[in-house]
Amino acid sequence: MRYVDEFRDQGLAQDLAATLSRTLTRPRRIMEVCGTHTMAVFRNGLTTLLPEGLELVSGPGCPVCVTSAPHIDAFLALAGRSGIIIATFGDLFRVPGSAGTSLAHARSQGARIEVIYSPMEGLRLARDHPDETVILLGIGFETTTPGVAATIRVAKREGLNNFLCFSTQKLIPPPLMSLFADPEQNIDALLCPGHVSAIIGTAAYAPLAKQYHLPCVISGFEPVDILQALLLLVRQLEEGRAQVENAYTRVVSHAGNIPAQTLVAEVFAPADTAWRGLGIIPDSGLALRDHYRVHDAQERLGVVVAPATEVQGCRCGQILQGRIRPPACPKFKALCTPANPVGPCMVSSEGTCAAYYNYAPESPAKRRTPILRQDTQQVMPASAGGSERSS
Ligand code: SF4
Repeated sequence: MRYVDEFRDQGLAQDLAATLSRTLTRPRRIMEVCGTHTMAVFRNGLTTLLPEGLELVSGPGCPVCVTSAPHIDAFLALAGRSGIIIATFGDLFRVPGSAGTSLAHARSQGARIEVIYSPMEGLRLARDHPDETVILLGIGFETTTPGVAATIRVAKREGLNNFLCFSTQKLIPPPLMSLFADPEQNIDALLCPGHVSAIIGTAAYAPLAKQYHLPCVISGFEPVDILQALLLLVRQLEEGRAQVENAYTRVVSHAGNIPAQTLVAEVFAPADTAWRGLGIIPDSGLALRDHYRVHDAQERLGVVVAPATEVQGCRCGQILQGRIRPPACPKFKALCTPANPVGPCMVSSEGTCAAYYNYAPESPAKRRTPILRQDTQQVMPASAGGSERSS
């Protein structure tokens, strides 16, 4: 496949891994911010290529995983009301709320829940069911927010007042600034998400590099992309530099996607929001602006989201901060599996627990960790069979 194959070249990857090994002189911890990177690292067996002493830890970049349990509870409460159709992406479908039930369970009890593949499908539901209220569960980061914003704008233009959005859209830089404000945070550098960066641009990471002296490199998602970005990060660390570098220039620019930014700014305004494991972070979420309030589910239906709580015994919150790895959770594999997930990190296609369960060498499936897969087929944890989307 033109343009992609070269980024999956096994020889090139092994050369980069060897250079990484020669460059690294002391142990380093690098956070892969994004769940798509977590999955790509494990699915391609990159952990088997990394030099000893280079540790990758997951960050808060899985949109489903960082959605707080009280938000899931609020979705479930809405799903129980009559005249409501919930439109959701498939990766949220099986995430348990604080009582252990999910949208999948609610549907089995008769709730109207439709798994969609794009926000526009939610709009179509609203057109097809004018006497009912369709609620799009808006979950995601900067990558998917423009699509949600465009859909809300069309709904407004068409006067489809039975189409509402429950926005829990989030922004990536604020939780990173919050994480690194903690003096006990012992992450040396950031592998930054290519798809989010395509929208926000490389400039968005400059405060992190400057304020926390943190090397930041934007990476694509193929094996060679990731290894090249890791090499750039290790070089910065070895040379004592802390800069923003772009290893994904075929997609990401300095300023980002200005039309997408403009569209999002027209529909949404920054707002405080709760993150699983990180609490409420100022201006880290997006709420509908006054002009679009008629499509705001929380406003129209009087939804109250309870204060943040964690699902009992689930340690997703610590995993999302890079403080522990999934095997440190007592429920991992024993009580929490993709078939019976306790927390979102085991459900999501970008979840760290799911990545460890499915691809770590000690996987119960006893599959050999694949190295540098040549195909694009993904072996995903058992899911709703519905749609999944990246960040
Ligand atoms: S293994 Fe399950 S219970 Fe433990 S942190 Fe992961 S999702 Fe939560």
